[in-house]
Amino acid sequence: MNDEWTTNVTNVPEGMTVLERGWLSSNNVLLDDGEHAVLVDTGYCTHAEQTLALVAHALQGRALDAVLNTHLHSDHCGGNAALQAAYPQLTTAIPPGLSAAVRAWDVPALGYDSVGQSIVRFGFDRVLQPGQTERLAGREWEVHAAPGHDSHAVLLFEPASRTLISGDALWAQGFGVIFPELDGEAGFDDAAATLDVIERLQPRLVIPGHGAVFSDVVAALSVARQRLNSFVQHPPRHHRHAAKVMLKYKLLEWGSQPETELRAWMWATPMFHLLWRLLHPDTDLHPDSFQHWATELLTELCRSKAATLHEGWVRNA
Ligand SMILES: [Zn+2]
Repeated sequence: MNDEWTTNVTNVPEGMTVLERGWLSSNNVLLDDGEHAVLVDTGYCTHAEQTLALVAHALQGRALDAVLNTHLHSDHCGGNAALQAAYPQLTTAIPPGLSAAVRAWDVPALGYDSVGQSIVRFGFDRVLQPGQTERLAGREWEVHAAPGHDSHAVLLFEPASRTLISGDALWAQGFGVIFPELDGEAGFDDAAATLDVIERLQPRLVIPGHGAVFSDVVAALSVARQRLNSFVQHPPRHHRHAAKVMLKYKLLEWGSQPETELRAWMWATPMFHLLWRLLHPDTDLHPDSFQHWATELLTELCRSKAATLHEGWVRNA
């Protein structure tokens, strides 16, 4: 799965190319009118070489003019640094929420260490202000705030073709983990409000952060709302899901790892401590009970065929 990608050119409007990646790297959307070429989201840092190759192939020797990020999770901006190095003239635009943290490269504020994910430092030139319009490769794109999965995320919507670049706010089958909830902030209401924004925009086509482009937006919104409601009714369901997503994500990066190393990584990763506390509010954190929980999570990942465990090695599946 790590190296799988496809180029989706069949049902997107002219001048848009979706480089459909897996789950470790977000999809990359190339907006190109032959004169101006913009890439929305850049994948995970360990895939940067593949990102560069895909972009170079699509541009046939022309330069990339700009990079935009829907949000600053490591799977969406991990290729920024490599693209900035390869195309020194390009400009980079990010959502405003974490711009001061990016400028100062304040890693704790950016949260990459908390989730145990890698990133290469990058800079930016300007922000994508919600409520404003961006002219990208000959088309006008509206910028909308999209809190929920990430408090600072934005959506990009092009009214003429009614194409939506949704990031992780809406996929064909759900949406990304609601990270603010894990930090003790209210994120479920924001996620619901963002789904309402998407419904009001009435997109004809959605280019999600992960998975294939889709046009049945009514069905996707219905799936997303059902899932969100189930999390609202029973937040531990969301938190357990988040723990498995983070574990699976690391396995996607590593491919395989000795079980002891994986457990050590979990213990060293603050987000797992946070999740453990959310799920066991009446118990003191102890390494034994933490490892018991790690066993439960690994067992569930193996049962759902997302991983295998054999002779002390955990493998992505
Ligand atoms: Zn993502």
